[in-house]
Amino acid sequence: MPIFEYNCQSCDQHFETIVMSAREKISCPKCSSKKVQKQLSVFAAPASTGDPAPSGPVCTGTPQTCGCH
Ligand SMILES: [Zn+2]
Repeated sequence: MPIFEYNCQSCDQHFETIVMSAREKISCPKCSSKKVQKQLSVFAAPASTGDPAPSGPVCTGTPQTCGCH
């Protein structure tokens, strides 16, 4: 579920909203202004650790000796 953060340029209200469609018109819940600025979503940001670390034993390709077969 894409949740985006917005900042209203009219009243400086900061709010989050679920956006179903990219064409959806977002308006400020406080003053109903459409002059809102999309902020960087925390959910869309990649993890700071970078590449996902392998968890568990390394797969040897032999069936049932690892967690992935
Ligand atoms: Zn506003």
